[in-house]
Amino acid sequence: MTSDEPAASSLSPDEAFALVADETRLEILRTLSGTDELLAFSELFERSEYDDSSNFSYHLDKLEGHFISRTNEGYALRQAGRRVVEAVISGTMTEDPMVDRAPTDRPCPFCSAPIEVTYEQERVKMYCTECPGVGRQDEPREEFDTEVSTLGHISLPPAGVQGRTPTEMLNAAHVWSNLDLLGDSAGVCSRCSGTVERSVTVCEDHDDSEGVCDHCGRRYAVLFEVECATCPNSKTGIPIVCLLAETELLSFVTDHGGNPLMPETYDIGPGALANYEENVLSLDPFIAEITFTIEDEALTVTIDENVSVVDVERNRTSGPTC
Ligand SMILES: [Zn+2]
Ligand SMILES: [Zn+2]
Ligand SMILES: [Zn+2]
Repeated sequence: MTSDEPAASSLSPDEAFALVADETRLEILRTLSGTDELLAFSELFERSEYDDSSNFSYHLDKLEGHFISRTNEGYALRQAGRRVVEAVISGTMTEDPMVDRAPTDRPCPFCSAPIEVTYEQERVKMYCTECPGVGRQDEPREEFDTEVSTLGHISLPPAGVQGRTPTEMLNAAHVWSNLDLLGDSAGVCSRCSGTVERSVTVCEDHDDSEGVCDHCGRRYAVLFEVECATCPNSKTGIPIVCLLAETELLSFVTDHGGNPLMPETYDIGPGALANYEENVLSLDPFIAEITFTIEDEALTVTIDENVSVVDVERNRTSGPTC
């Protein structure tokens, strides 16, 4: 690094967005992302297929410091520049793809019926054909169609839909989401590396005797949330949203042959965690037990209002004896 490189001072999101919202600048970033070598000005100019070198130089100057570094040997992408290219590619491989409701090979965690999926607005939505699913998990009440049983949704960039069958798309969404959750639930934002807070929302008048509660519209009373203090990253849903990175939970899953990154973590099979039991012991202060069962073993995790684990217990369940 040479002293003529401007310091990478912090930019507001607006300023950062304004800096890269330009066709030529994106092209420069994309060109640099396609190589591991440092590119001299002449090489970079040539590869970008641009024909006005003084204008090109102007745009290059704008990117230098925050998105690009320059040394005597040439130009290279900084981490922020690479992230811009990744975001652009993951979002624009295909033009806003849509998938109409289609069956998959994955089973509902509650009744084993095949899960059906749709893809729109960068989300894979899951539906059960037989049971009430999880109810209204994380959608505003006005958007929730009570006639439709839903198993919630998972975010997936458009690139994740490309060239995949509905089952493959759903599997990819689970892996992508589990990867995120490992970071988020460990308190480090999977998007920006900032600090993530964990919290719960509880339905105080919960009644799930009909499968889904009339008050909150959900199967479970406790809704788990992770939220980044720095960027817009937030997720709500089942306990693994907050607990996936807990050592006791990870070892419980792997001891039963499950892989915490794989889709089976959600539905059925070794390590399935979406079908669990909750027991709210106290509302103020909040204390609840969450019990996951895999094969003949149960893991009960006791959590407080910060979703800190205050107790863990592992027990054999009274399964059928041979
Ligand atoms: Zn079902
Ligand atoms: Zn409720
Ligand atoms: Zn963040």
